[in-house]
Amino acid sequence: MANGTAARSKEAAKVVHYRECQRNHAASIGRHAVDGCREFMASGADGTAAALMCAACGCHRSFHRREVETDDRDCSSTTSSG
Ligand SMILES: [Zn+2]
Repeated sequence: MANGTAARSKEAAKVVHYRECQRNHAASIGRHAVDGCREFMASGADGTAAALMCAACGCHRSFHRREVETDDRDCSSTTSSG
């Protein structure tokens, strides 16, 4: 899969990831239903308004769960299941 992720910078102290979309599409009817988007994907280039919109689900980036990855020198392997 060829995907242009942001170039890694050694100067960066922390990296921010935007994970699952948590927008409640059924809030207006008092229910809870998310669109199932697993990860934010910018629909436009960095610096443009489109960069804040998710290409997958169309929601604003702020609806996605923010995850800050601190640049600790802890070589822990990812043990995600599922
Ligand atoms: Zn969404």
